[in-house]
Amino acid sequence: MTRRRRVYEGKAKVLFEGPEPGTLVQYFKDDATAFNGEKKSTVTGKGVLNNRISEHLMSRLSEIGIHNHFIRRLNMREQLIREVEIIPVEVIVRNVAAGSLCSRLGITEGTALPRTIIEYCFKSDELNDPLVSEEHVTAFGWATPQELDDIMNQSLRVNDFLTGLFTGIGIKLIDFKLEFGRVYDGDEVQVILADEISPDNCRLWDLATNEKLDKDRFRRDLGGVEDAYQEVARRLGILPEGGPGDLQGSTAIQ
Ligand code: UDP
Repeated sequence: MTRRRRVYEGKAKVLFEGPEPGTLVQYFKDDATAFNGEKKSTVTGKGVLNNRISEHLMSRLSEIGIHNHFIRRLNMREQLIREVEIIPVEVIVRNVAAGSLCSRLGITEGTALPRTIIEYCFKSDELNDPLVSEEHVTAFGWATPQELDDIMNQSLRVNDFLTGLFTGIGIKLIDFKLEFGRVYDGDEVQVILADEISPDNCRLWDLATNEKLDKDRFRRDLGGVEDAYQEVARRLGILPEGGPGDLQGSTAIQ
């Protein structure tokens, strides 16, 4: 097997050169990190589940006209994606107070927000992804005002759609993080959704019990991380072919 060129390695994923120009292969690792990499571990099967869950959600979003980088799943741990020029801004969408919003503003976790709140963070591991305003995003040229407007509209549509989708399977969408990137087609530039949508970057609570079905189980040492991700996949109707026993996948990265 020929060795593929590694384009980028992040905390939970690796990007390899794709088979055609303008494509990449996104490989999902089992590595879990929190607090900007200070806490590290592996969660067996997480990569396989996130690959499936993100495939499913990105495909559903495509169907309602939210363009995104997902092309097709290649195997248990890999998906083919469009190469984008990533915009260095994390878009956080919040419906219910949790995580850093609570510590920053002294709000009790679980408080429903008066309306959906969008926040932006500058993508920088060295700076710990600081919260920034729209002014920073446009003044520093990370995105144009038009792009930011587009990003905000797309994020709200994603939120509306995913809130409904998760409610239908007994899950509350508390908050999540999105990333966007530019694709160039001749003179045209388009901003499309990129990265992944999975329990690694969403807060998902059981509708009836408020049980956490996301990465907070890892961040807060609650245990049952894999079971929680598996439960999300099960409710979405997308557990891997072999069922829960088939979550290992290949861990080898070529
Ligand atoms: N999030 C993420 N990556 C980050 C920061 C946040 O995926 O680098 C997600 C996180 O999983 C949650 C939402 O964005 O669903 C809001 O996170 P928050 O700002 O509360 O930060 P945290 O408490 O996770 O540090």
